Amino acid sequence: MEEIKVFCPATIANVSCGFDVLGLALDSVGDEMVVRKIPEKEIRITKIIGQDLPLETEKNVSGVAGLALLEKSDYEGGFEIEIDKRIKPGSGIGSSAASSAGAVWAMNELLGRPFSKLELVQFAMEGEKLASDVAHADNVAPAIYGGFTLVRSYAPLDIVPIPTPDELFATVIHPQIEIKTSDSRKILKTTISLEKGIKQWGNLGGLVAGLFQNDYDLIGRSLEDHIVEPIRSILIPAFDDIKTNAMDAGALGCGISGSGPSIFALSQGENTAQNVAKSMEETYQTIGVPFDIHISKVNIHGVKKLG
Ligand code: ADP
Repeated sequence: MEEIKVFCPATIANVSCGFDVLGLALDSVGDEMVVRKIPEKEIRITKIIGQDLPLETEKNVSGVAGLALLEKSDYEGGFEIEIDKRIKPGSGIGSSAASSAGAVWAMNELLGRPFSKLELVQFAMEGEKLASDVAHADNVAPAIYGGFTLVRSYAPLDIVPIPTPDELFATVIHPQIEIKTSDSRKILKTTISLEKGIKQWGNLGGLVAGLFQNDYDLIGRSLEDHIVEPIRSILIPAFDDIKTNAMDAGALGCGISGSGPSIFALSQGENTAQNVAKSMEETYQTIGVPFDIHISKVNIHGVKKLG
């Protein structure tokens, strides 16, 4: 195979109680990317449509992630990349992660899969480091593994894939304001109280157990964030109203997607996810905030080959 076209999914990191460790991949929201082999040992980004992003290899996360893979590979050639960018950068649904993960996943396929998923996550994390100064794995891990993933540890990197109940749908609303990941990190405190810690790891354990047991009530009870949401939500227009209305419309839980400003809700079944979307739309229409909205099943495959 000389060329491959892939779907690079958007992802929701944190998922309320799993700050920096939990993430999930979306099914119907994502970029497309074409990667082809070239004889020269280099990465060239030849085309980006949809968004204004740098073509220089070292300034584009797909280039940086690809270079990390090339460095560990005995392949003599390189790759050319074309990106059809549909996920807006800075939206909080893993725009940079989609490109980092998509690039290294596609390259691995073209080379006959010499690298494990865990190694692909490590390469993709180099791209994340370029985007936000920190080599997060909470978006690239679900993009590569699919479904929900837990980053149990960063040193050593230990990724735990978590099963996804069949009827789980996400609704994501993106108010058209930009928040830089680095800025939304700066406002966080670096310490937490034991009391808040206890609540948070109780919920994280509950959410993971709920996902394993297909227990939607337990999932709903566990989708609470006592640490980050109270601080970050002040950056997001009408966060409290969106959340209250989404819960009234039947959502299992609702919180900030990644570092925001997107807000996600999880629901059991597509109908409820649509009712939640309606409630979110009405909330922003009433106060005049422009937005994008997506409804998606959780994507259990991660990056996938198209065509
Ligand atoms: P997100 O959480 O949506 O990925 P970030 O603010 O964390 O948003 O990262 C986006 C940053 O990464 C922007 O500064 C953008 O210019 C940069 N970037 C570089 N290459 C890409 C790419 N291929 N896709 C998306 N963002 C990229």
